[in-house]
Amino acid sequence: MKADSPYRGRLAPSPTGYLHLGHARTFWTAQCRARAAGGALVLRSEDLDAARFSLDFADAMLEDLRWAGFTWDEGPDVGGPCAPYRQSERLPLYRAALGRLHEAGLIYPCSRSRRDVIEAAGAPHEGAGDDEPLYPAAFRPDPARPLPALGARTGANWRLRVPDGEVLGFVDGRLGPQSAVAGRDFGDFPVWRKDDCPTYQLACAVDDAEMGMTEVVRGEDLVRSTFRQLLIYRALGRSPPAFYHCPLMLDAGGVRLAKRHDALSLRAIRARGDSPESVRLGWDPAG
Ligand code: GLU
Repeated sequence: MKADSPYRGRLAPSPTGYLHLGHARTFWTAQCRARAAGGALVLRSEDLDAARFSLDFADAMLEDLRWAGFTWDEGPDVGGPCAPYRQSERLPLYRAALGRLHEAGLIYPCSRSRRDVIEAAGAPHEGAGDDEPLYPAAFRPDPARPLPALGARTGANWRLRVPDGEVLGFVDGRLGPQSAVAGRDFGDFPVWRKDDCPTYQLACAVDDAEMGMTEVVRGEDLVRSTFRQLLIYRALGRSPPAFYHCPLMLDAGGVRLAKRHDALSLRAIRARGDSPESVRLGWDPAG
């Protein structure tokens, strides 16, 4: 389908397991918003997490989405002007962005383990489904000390230093005005991992900017990530897209759906013989 408006939206699934109804409902909202705007919908495979990633899931993901009624204008299987559409094939772009953050002195290497951070910070951060503990200020290196070269510090994660006390805000398309205080609601966060791989925050912001997204539609568990990504856009001199965060789907017991809910995977539903129309029944396009 040829887009006749500047709207660009995306579906950004991670092939770490079978897609479930929760993903599908969020993606449906993304697709409805792109179509209503007469814009383009891009499928990007967020397959960086090599340890959990399996080729079978990547294929199953596209197949299940097509079965459920999704169509995309650009993607790993159909190509497009922003190819490649698999994050595992876009590493040079992320590395270039990391270089810019390094030149600007906004990141530092951190050899603390997640356990060190949790022990020093106390419980993981409450709220918005975010499980990142607040990085303790005492672990930060002195900003006046020269940064080691990138690559000179293997075995370290690189973190972005957040501007303590700054109030960040955006107007969400569904939730309205949102704000968070850097250093209080979220702390310094990893942008590059010690296994030489970008984190979700960096890869996602770089791709949404490079792929020209005008609106990002995703689950509301990612609202706090949006604030982190706003800092990355700013550091890279890019303007952020609009955001629209969808409600999360809960199971019968009120627990958020996850890939371990096998019975609610699109694959299992399809195997039971349900139709895609019955799956989508009752999904409010307004999300
Ligand atoms: N790949 C992420 C996920 O499957 C979505 C990230 C996003 O939409 O920004 O949870």
